[in-house]
Amino acid sequence: MADPQLDALVKAGLQSLLVYPSDAEYTERQRSYWAANAALGPKAIVLPRTAEDVSRIVKALAEVDGKAAIRSGGHMQWAGANDIHDGITIDLGRMTNVTYDSQKKLASIQPGARWGHVYDALEPHGVCVAGGRDANVGVGGFLTGGGNSYYSGRVGMGCDSVANFEVVLANGDIVNANATENPDLWKALKGGSGNFGIVTRFDLKTIPATPLWGGMRASPRSAGDAIVQSVVDFTNDNEKNPETAYIINFTYNPSVVPDVVIASVMVDTLGKEDAPIFENIKKVPTLFQDVKSRTISDIAKAYVLPSGLRQTWFTLSFKNDGDVVKKAGELHDQLVEELKALLPAQNFVTQCLFQPLPTFFAKRSVEQGGNVLGLDSVPDNALLWLLTGTVNTEEHEKIMEEKLSAFAKSLEEYAKSKGSDIPWLYGNYTDKTQCPFSSYGAANIDFLRKVSAKYDPAGMFQNKFVGGFKIPKNQA
Ligand SMILES: Cc1cc2nc3c(=O)[nH]c(=O)nc-3n(C[C@H](O)[C@H](O)[C@H](O)COP(=O)(O)OP(=O)(O)OC[C@H]3O[C@@H](n4cnc5c(N)ncnc54)[C@H](O)[C@@H]3O)c2cc1C
Repeated sequence: MADPQLDALVKAGLQSLLVYPSDAEYTERQRSYWAANAALGPKAIVLPRTAEDVSRIVKALAEVDGKAAIRSGGHMQWAGANDIHDGITIDLGRMTNVTYDSQKKLASIQPGARWGHVYDALEPHGVCVAGGRDANVGVGGFLTGGGNSYYSGRVGMGCDSVANFEVVLANGDIVNANATENPDLWKALKGGSGNFGIVTRFDLKTIPATPLWGGMRASPRSAGDAIVQSVVDFTNDNEKNPETAYIINFTYNPSVVPDVVIASVMVDTLGKEDAPIFENIKKVPTLFQDVKSRTISDIAKAYVLPSGLRQTWFTLSFKNDGDVVKKAGELHDQLVEELKALLPAQNFVTQCLFQPLPTFFAKRSVEQGGNVLGLDSVPDNALLWLLTGTVNTEEHEKIMEEKLSAFAKSLEEYAKSKGSDIPWLYGNYTDKTQCPFSSYGAANIDFLRKVSAKYDPAGMFQNKFVGGFKIPKNQA
């Protein structure tokens, strides 16, 4: 039976860019999603190579009924984020070029590149960019969703380094969005995800590629109190050492260690070994550690989270309150015990992470033109929390979802009871049941709606390109 979307793409001369469920490349692309639960089996995948290809695809799909999704690296973990079952997936995975303009000091990066490749391509030029901390994460979703990096204290979120987006709009026009050309679109794309068009190139400001110093340390669960204090102190002091970054993670990963441990990652992006901010952290006992001088590429490749498994994530944010971190650690201990009773012990992994989100990160963003994340309205030094659960089967994923959702509720209630909750949700970490845009503030939502109405008056990226988080229709 004729399919209007496929017919339109073929009529537009795009047959050679299409792969179907019977093709080996289709299977390869579906397997390349980070989370197995994100791959939904579209009726076809279209794989553009250039911005002109993307433009022709958008124009062809605009003429007919049917839904579509956009995918760059395919790392967003929830079903519906970057793929679609009954529609077409526009997969930017063949668009991976990285070039460097030494005059302008800008790196031009296509959206399907992964950060490890980006760092490798820029290293010979002596520069790097504020990108992902895991080498396999994709560029397109990370930068349009925000992008928290080891460099956030120096240059704000990854999206704040974007000097120019090349974007394909709903009418197929290929435009630039920067501080002087389409500046409203430029700002909206810094956190507004796939709501306005398809970004086909990011021109990113670069940073000198000095070697970093840092890496992971794993501490016994019994060191919990010292670690909790360390993240609270770091968050309060980070502005004095904006070149440093720190993350803590209560984690159960029985293939590495049979018990819950607390992994932490500390990084000095200027390569100093003895930053005073890490003095107390270094005193916390460790089971093992991997802290050394290294390149950004090396550290990003050292901590790649395995793909092809079923993933559930929840996120929240809190004031920089050690009691909330302690409570999360206790809830995580309980979670692991409950899951051990429900799932084979070797068959699940959990992480309960806290990342400093001090107010000065948002200052860095505002200095560079601002974004739509709304962090500039958060008055307190905050902690960004992420809870993840990894399993192998759909049945276990349901159990994980239920348990993680209950955990998030309990922690949120606890934080609320102390006045330590912050209603901010990071869109690149949210579960499908959470709504990041609603947490970015009424003014930002209003702005996003206006930009959408201006650049996409028929609402194609709201109604037809349904993958990912859409701008809430009702007033938040
Ligand atoms: C292992 C792992 C590590 C991570 N580490 C970090 C980290 O250090 N810091 C951090 O901030 N986040 C991190 N994340 C979250 C990550 O930023 C998001 O998953 C991000 O969306 C991944 O980018 P992607 O290109 O793979 O996105 P995809 O999954 O391909 O797409 C995600 C969303 O972005 C939209 N989108 C993608 N490309 C485009 C485009 N070209 N134009 C318009 N819209 C587009 C899509 O519509 C989709 O809704 C991590 C995720 C994982 C799984």
